[in-house]
Amino acid sequence: MTELQADVLIVGGGPAGLSVAARLPDGVSSILVHQDAEIGRPVRTSGGTWVSDMRALGVPDDLYVTMNTLEFRSDNVVATHAMKSQTLAVLDITGLYQWLGRAAVANGCDVHVGTKMLACVRDGAGYLATIRFADRSEGRVRARYVVDASGNANAVVAALGLADAPQRTGVGIEYEYEMLDGDRDKAVLFVGTAALVGYGWIFPAPHNRVRIGVGVISPDTDVSPRTLMDQLHASGFLNDQGLRLGTRVHANAGVIPSEPYDRKLVFDRVIRVGDTANFATPTVGEGIRMAIEFGRILGDELGKAVQTGRAAPLKRYERKCAKRFKRNYRLGYAANQRIAKYDAAQWDRSVRRLSRLSEREVIALIRSEYSFGLIAGGVVKYLKVKIFSR
Ligand SMILES: Cc1cc2nc3c(=O)[nH]c(=O)nc-3n(C[C@H](O)[C@H](O)[C@H](O)COP(=O)(O)OP(=O)(O)OC[C@H]3O[C@@H](n4cnc5c(N)ncnc54)[C@H](O)[C@@H]3O)c2cc1C
Repeated sequence: MTELQADVLIVGGGPAGLSVAARLPDGVSSILVHQDAEIGRPVRTSGGTWVSDMRALGVPDDLYVTMNTLEFRSDNVVATHAMKSQTLAVLDITGLYQWLGRAAVANGCDVHVGTKMLACVRDGAGYLATIRFADRSEGRVRARYVVDASGNANAVVAALGLADAPQRTGVGIEYEYEMLDGDRDKAVLFVGTAALVGYGWIFPAPHNRVRIGVGVISPDTDVSPRTLMDQLHASGFLNDQGLRLGTRVHANAGVIPSEPYDRKLVFDRVIRVGDTANFATPTVGEGIRMAIEFGRILGDELGKAVQTGRAAPLKRYERKCAKRFKRNYRLGYAANQRIAKYDAAQWDRSVRRLSRLSEREVIALIRSEYSFGLIAGGVVKYLKVKIFSR
């Protein structure tokens, strides 16, 4: 049996795990296991994000397309917002994740694709993980620290009995088509009859394509997103948006946690990051930029923890995350629970309210970032939540 050893084992080669791997300092050895045969394939996300964040993270601009209009649609109301201060972007997911993967390898991380972590137990002061390689043989990894970057699977914390996998999840399905005709400068979020109990999106994507998806919250509803997608295509809604679709290139599906933010991310020497740490926004489930940003922060802090043997850097990481997410996500999650039950008429009223918000307020809502100034203003009226409720 192959036996591997490193200071840090990272489970999951999505944006969070790869970003941790790319930032660990010299002298700290790492192994990353990723169960899929390739980094960035299959795609399980739609890749909607913001140009300013991608620039701040140093993402090359040929890895996304941009758009300046955001449209919300319910059965009878359309709210159109020009994005003047923040340009929207849709990512080339495979390209971005492979770019992150190259940075991890260049930083010295030993990346194993097609390799699944099957089990993990305590081993003295560290951990012993059982893994299955791409050739189906089993091996073991001994590590002093383990990063759980396995996304919704929560593979490490669940194996060690440290936390439960999320019970409430967002489940999405998305088809990517060649885009023969349609507005490439506009991203659409739709609700109401076209998406029934969930919400849908139309995102122009790189390589002259368009991603059309629907998502629902489970177990709030047992309607399958695939059924919604079939109904959407049969309904004529897409034609009404002026879209002419070519060949279907991909069918993507994914699951994301939809639970309140839990500030506990460090369990002795096991640390959660990305979707496992519930970083995606409660309003629209946007999580890629946080996975990269906080993956890098964790890489820096974990490096210090490994080098000094002290817990303080990991506690600092946990505090930085809580500062960024805790209050904002409490507001966003309260809204999420409420709107998950909306019917078509309530969505009409909601989109009408959205049409009255300023660009700044709409951006805050989508990004789940509420400054005190915004809280005092229209956003909270839109969210209709008690700010100081626990
Ligand atoms: C339908 C849908 C649409 C979305 N749309 C957007 C969007 O438009 N914009 C946005 O920013 N975010 C979006 N998100 C959220 C975004 O995809 C996530 O926040 C982001 O992928 C989190 O990255 P991560 O690295 O934490 O986890 P992941 O990307 O899930 O990566 C974790 C990886 O770990 C691997 N893994 C799991 N278990 C094991 C194991 N035992 N051993 C080895 N490997 C394992 C998995 O195969 C997976 O590839 C969407 C999510 C879904 C489901």
